[in-house]
Amino acid sequence: SAKVIDGKAFAGKLRAKIASHVARLRDETGVVPGLAVVLVGEDAASQVYVRNKGIQTVAVGMASYEHKLPAEASESQLLALIADLNADRSVHGILVQLPLPAHIDAGAVINAIDPRKDVDGFHVTNVGLLATGQRSMVPCTPLGCLMMLRDHFGSLRGRTAVVVGRSNIVGKPMAQLLLRDDCSVTIVHRHSLGMAEICRRADILVTAVGQPEMFDASYVKPGAVVIDVGINRIERDGRSKLVGDVNFADVANIAGAITPVPGGVGPMTIACLLANTLTAYCRAHDLPEPDGLAV
Ligand code: NAD
Repeated sequence: SAKVIDGKAFAGKLRAKIASHVARLRDETGVVPGLAVVLVGEDAASQVYVRNKGIQTVAVGMASYEHKLPAEASESQLLALIADLNADRSVHGILVQLPLPAHIDAGAVINAIDPRKDVDGFHVTNVGLLATGQRSMVPCTPLGCLMMLRDHFGSLRGRTAVVVGRSNIVGKPMAQLLLRDDCSVTIVHRHSLGMAEICRRADILVTAVGQPEMFDASYVKPGAVVIDVGINRIERDGRSKLVGDVNFADVANIAGAITPVPGGVGPMTIACLLANTLTAYCRAHDLPEPDGLAV
């Protein structure tokens, strides 16, 4: 049965590597990387994410700056805060927690961030740089998936990859990264016909759909590596539980390797946010970038 790719352990190793670099940079320069996280409103899940990001940022020795605005804050207030953070030399990364309240244009806010500080990699400049194969900030979730795939395979060159989902946050940047690592890449989505057949051609299958346990063994080629990005909360036996897009028990019988949910892609996402912050710091200070953190 399939090897289980331990994202939690991988993320722990990545954070330890980041922490040792940060300690060295602090000793050499006296300046630590700083990450500013902006939260607008009271969304419960967002508050949990922001708190976790802050804790993990401090744990690797970086400075964490949290900015909380009320739900009724105006777009211009938020843009003024972004402008301050863009100008602040102690801030190397800026993350605006999504979703934003409906009266704020999220695209306008994201594109107001200095692209060099855009540690989520959502700014159109970074999207364009990634698409044209240039150095950019790369979205955290697909970056984490790529790191696990590179670790598993060594080289991804020539492999057939299928990405399910075409969101700007996961599916599209994932496909760009796999293309950049010389895979043959297909993206399928809600409107694709013959999806199972296409998925069964994949050496690498990445599911980023948000449909609980949709992918069973009939979507998977024997020996394929399956990266399950989905996080879905379901009720089972009267209890609430998290599952991925993949039916783990079924697919584990046929896949070569598989990421579990929880404990797979999820923990890698915040670790990659820290990696991006360190990368942004190194670029801002014209320092060499640590190996294996950026693409
Ligand atoms: P999204 O809703 O923006 O995009 C979903 C995509 O899946 C769309 O492109 C849609 O066309 C496709 N899709 C939906 N139903 C489908 C179906 N039945 N068949 C084929 N394609 C279908 O979602 P997203 O932001 O890309 O997130 C996807 C999943 O990944 C969600 O479960 C989300 O919670 C999870 N996620 C996890 C992390 C992490 O850190 N692990 C980060 C981001 C998102």
